[in-house]
This record gives sequence, structure tokens and C-alpha cells, in this order.
Amino acid sequence: MLSYRCTAACRHCMYGCSPKWSGDWISTEKLEQFLPQLAKVIEPSPYGSQYMSLNHGLHFSGGEPFLNFDLLLKAVEIADALKIPSTFVETNCFWCKSDEFTRRRLQALKKKGLRGIMISVNPFYTEYVPFERTDRCIRISQEVFGPNVMVYQLEYYRMFTQMGISGRLSMDEYLKRFGQASLSDRVELFLMGRAVDRLKDLYPGYPPERFFSTPCQPPILRSWHNHFDNYGNFMPGFCGGISLGNWFELDRLVKEGIDLENRPILNYLVHEDMRGLFGFATDMGYRKLEGGYVSKCHLCLDIRKYSVSRGDFEELSPRQFYEQLYSNSR
Ligand code: SF4
Ligand code: SF4
Repeated sequence: MLSYRCTAACRHCMYGCSPKWSGDWISTEKLEQFLPQLAKVIEPSPYGSQYMSLNHGLHFSGGEPFLNFDLLLKAVEIADALKIPSTFVETNCFWCKSDEFTRRRLQALKKKGLRGIMISVNPFYTEYVPFERTDRCIRISQEVFGPNVMVYQLEYYRMFTQMGISGRLSMDEYLKRFGQASLSDRVELFLMGRAVDRLKDLYPGYPPERFFSTPCQPPILRSWHNHFDNYGNFMPGFCGGISLGNWFELDRLVKEGIDLENRPILNYLVHEDMRGLFGFATDMGYRKLEGGYVSKCHLCLDIRKYSVSRGDFEELSPRQFYEQLYSNSR
């Protein structure tokens, strides 16, 4: 993650990104210095290092990486020099204002060594990005990157194309046209991050006990698809606001292991002990939500948000995540 700053503030954003975040872009010096440690453990797509797949290789993300195009170009160049396989960039397409401009940027990235692109499509993005730009990005990306274009999520792209969507689409309008069931019946939606606040009214709430023995899906500790942010946080999977340690010292972290002793909240999470975490938080004064929780991640996040207000927990990082999570740029 080059930065958390984004042009949008999507309701489902796992990392609470928005235009309100300070940029704090990772520097090229840091990339040059620390990416080599990460490069050693990055595995190529099963189809080969020239190809992309969601849980292999390295993807440049944010926030919105095209907000700092020069940095993105440089990051791709550094990764290519390190022979990192299966690289791709993820975008919300806000910048695809004309065919020529879009083509120029994509070709420049390809020339620096980028293998592919992942294009975000769902009703949360279309609140912010006119659908024509998304459509343009997909079309021109296919010209430039051939098969290395991932549309996430294709089902929504088909729906929007069939319905002839143009411009932006508000959530109210979307729900009127497609119905609430379309939000989770057909496609993957993780009720975590900002979604637990902005989408909670669409789902039933449950008492905390319901989640005491539910495993994290996917597991919190895993050797695939983790995120590494501009502040140095090594984040497990999609769990925004949780840091396993400093990825700028990855070699040391791998050698010595995660310091759980000084990270009580992480300790509970790693051991899947939500009952223990709930008890720990309750002892600090946490009170359960009257309306209940829509998911285990909702309970986890609400406890973490409370904990941040009560103490200095190193594993709850970056702090700005907790301040910006429920912000809305509108
Ligand atoms: S989901 Fe993507 S486009 Fe939306 S706010 Fe988050 S980073 Fe930005
Ligand atoms: S419950 Fe917490 S640790 Fe587990 S997946 Fe959700 S956010 Fe991550």
C-alpha cells in the first residue's frame, strides 16, 4: 500500500481509505531499501511470473496508487529490477478521463515492467467513479496487458453493462434497481473495515457470544495475500488497523517471530480467542453494542476502536485508520 489516501471513501473499504487521509506516501528510498527483503518471499502466479493472480506476486495498492503516478512508476521499476514476479496494480479508475491519457499511462507502466492490472467494479465504487471510466480502463487495459486484466468483480461489471449504467450511481438508486440481496448473494463481500458501520443496517445483528468460536475467514496468520503499508505495518490479510510488526525489518521479524507478549490484543486474535478479547476489553470498560454485530470482524473492530481510545497498543496501527474509518468525503 503506497498510501491510504484515495479519491473515494467506499462504504466497504477494509482500510478506511478516503481523501481525508494525509498522503504520507512511501518514499522511493524506503522501497529501494526494504523491498528486497520482501522480494525473497514473493511467489509467482501458478501460471508463471509473467502472469498475474490475486493471491500471488506483488500488487501495488492504496488508497489509490494512481494519485501518485510518478511514485507508482518508480515502484514498478524497483520491483522489476528485483525480479519480483506477477506484479500488478489495483485501481478504482478515477483517472481514466480519456482514451489517450489512459493508454499512455498504462503503456508507461507496462514499459517499466508491470505485468497486469486489477480493476475494481462494484456498487460502492460507482458511487464515486463514473462507470464510463471503469469501462474505458477495462477496454484499454485489455489492449495493453492482454490476458493480465482482472475485473473485481466481474458479476457487477456484467450487471452494470447489461443495465446500461452511465455516470455515478448512488447506493439508494442501486438498491432501488438491483435490490439488497444483490449485495451479497452473488458476489463476495467482507463485512469488515468501514462496511461494519456503513452497511450494518442492511444485515441482522447478533450478540458477541455468537462469534466467540467462529474462526477468522481467511485465517489471520497466513503465508499468502498479506498487506504491507507505507508506515511499515505488516498487516494480516485484509485486517486493516492490525499490525503484526514492522515489515521494514522483515528479516528480523521472520527470524525472531511476532512479539505477542507485548501485543495483548494481537495475542487474543492470533489464538482465535474472541471470548478472551471480549473479557479483556470489558475489563477496560468496553460495553457491547445494543444492536449487536453483523460479523466477527465487526466485534473485533469495535473492540479495537475502543481499545485505541483507552491505551497505547502497538498492534493497533496505523492510528489514523481508527480516526478515518467512518469518515465520508461527501
Ligand atoms: S475500496 Fe479502494 S477505491 Fe474505495 S476507498 Fe478503499 S482504496 Fe479507495
Ligand atoms: S475478526 Fe479481526 S482478526 Fe479476524 S479477520 Fe476479522 S478483522 Fe481480522
